[in-house]
Amino acid sequence: MIIKDIATASILGCKVHLLNMAEAVQIVEQLVKDGQDGNQVVTLNAEIIYQTKKEIELQRIINSASLVTADGIGTVWAARVLGYPQKERVSGIDLLHEVCAAGATRGWKLYLLGAAPGVAAKAGQKLERSYPGLKVCGSRHGYFSQQDEPKIIAEINSKSPDILLAALGAPKQEYWIDQKRDALKAPVCIGVGGSFDVIAGIKKRAPKLFIMLNLEWLYRLLTEPSRWKRQLALPAFVLAVLKQKYGRTN
Ligand code: UDP
Repeated sequence: MIIKDIATASILGCKVHLLNMAEAVQIVEQLVKDGQDGNQVVTLNAEIIYQTKKEIELQRIINSASLVTADGIGTVWAARVLGYPQKERVSGIDLLHEVCAAGATRGWKLYLLGAAPGVAAKAGQKLERSYPGLKVCGSRHGYFSQQDEPKIIAEINSKSPDILLAALGAPKQEYWIDQKRDALKAPVCIGVGGSFDVIAGIKKRAPKLFIMLNLEWLYRLLTEPSRWKRQLALPAFVLAVLKQKYGRTN
C-alpha cells in the first residue's frame, strides 16, 4: 500500500487520510522501508483543525504531512458529515501502540522525545517490555530551549531511529517536527501528544466504555478541567463544518 493511493478528506481546508488503523500502520511500515527521512505523521483532532482557521502556517504543515489520521471523534464526524467515507478513528496513542507491535517484529528503533523529565525514559522501558523485539534507542524530556536544539538533533541522529515519537503536545509538536524534519535522520516522525504520560502511568486514559461511546473528550474534560478553554473550540468547529457542508465558508 502506498500513501498516494489513499483518498483524503478536506475539513476546513485540512487534509485527512481516509483509512483505518491497519492501513495507517501499513503506511508507516512502507515509509520506514523506503527509508527517506523526514516524513511527518499528524494525528489530527477537531481542536487543531479549528485552530488552523487562525493559524494558516499550521494548515500548511498538516497539508504537507505524509500521513494525517483522524485522531478524535470530531474529525471522524466532520469527514462523514462532509460526505467522505472515513473508516475509523486512528488516535495518536492507539497508533503508537500498533506501530510498536509492528516494530517489534521488525526490530525497529524508536526515539522518544517529550514529556516531563524521566517520563519518556519510563515510557520507553514499558514499551520495550510490552513489545519484545522493539528497541528504544534513546529518550529525552520535552522541556528545552532553542539553544539546546542542535544538541538534541545531533543526539537523535546519532541513534538513527526508524521512528521519532514527539510528545510535546499538539500543535507544538507539529510545528517542531515541521521545522526540524530536514535536519532529522529518521524516516518517520509522529506527534503523539500526551501519550508518554499515559504509557508511563502518570496519567490515566479514559476507561474503555468512554472510548467505545466516543466520549474520550468528555473524560479528559472531567479529569483535566483546565482543558475547557481548548474544548470551547468544539461547538465552533461543528458550526464551521456545517457551514462548509452547506456552502458557506465564512
Ligand atoms: N510537553 C513537553 N514540552 C512542552 C510542553 C508540553 O514535552 O514544552 C509535554 C507535556 O509534558 C505532556 C504533553 O507534552 O506530556 C502534552 O500533553 P497533552 O495531553 O496536553 O497533549 P495533547 O494530547 O492534548 O496534544
